[in-house]
Amino acid sequence: MRRIGSMLLLAALVGACAPLPPRNPLATWAPSPNHELRRPILIVLHATTQDSVRESLETLRTRNGGGPVSAHYLIGRDGHRYQLVADSERAWHAGSGSWGTISDVNNASIGIELDNDGNAPFPDAQIDSLLVLLEDLCTRLRIPRTQVIAHADMAPTRKVDPGRLFPWRRLAEAGFGRWPADSVEPPPPGFDPWLALRLFGYPLEDRAATVRAFHLRFRGMDSEVLDDEDLRILHALTREGP
Ligand SMILES: [Zn+2]
Repeated sequence: MRRIGSMLLLAALVGACAPLPPRNPLATWAPSPNHELRRPILIVLHATTQDSVRESLETLRTRNGGGPVSAHYLIGRDGHRYQLVADSERAWHAGSGSWGTISDVNNASIGIELDNDGNAPFPDAQIDSLLVLLEDLCTRLRIPRTQVIAHADMAPTRKVDPGRLFPWRRLAEAGFGRWPADSVEPPPPGFDPWLALRLFGYPLEDRAATVRAFHLRFRGMDSEVLDDEDLRILHALTREGP
């Protein structure tokens, strides 16, 4: 009896560590081999806003004062890549927010943290390393190359990372993310910048915050008021399509 009790306890402990896939008791389990792990469809880029990889490895792998957080990858300033969570698993990097029709960004995305204190430029070695990783992820997981966004893009009221110094143009020249063509003319009268922002993917619950995120990404500044160049950029992005 005691032995059965301890076996049950062991089973409970093992169960707690590695839960079985839930099978809905409302239906008869008739498993099919024709399935695979879910694939993410979006990549979210972050800056750690900490002082070192060592500090971030601690933050991203412990209970952490502000609650547990993680990311799939962390890239050092020297370009060294760490993987903390498997691609097929749901890391806790995005938090609340949305992008286009995606309302649970953690569920749908890969999170990449870049070791950066929030004020320093991103070294070439780090960006080169990121481009190698993006190439791998977009090829292997079939994530659309345009679907690379900033944490600030999906959570503009809460986040500013990876920040105004992140080289989005260089990423776009390598084929990742979106960047407006310089040649596109200003938009016609009646052009609706809010509709364009929404079509691009931005949430619009707080418009000033959304404009700030848009400026961080496309203008390298953090003002909250749209100007003529913003309208031209939005027109160009709208014309290119997703
Ligand atoms: Zn972030």
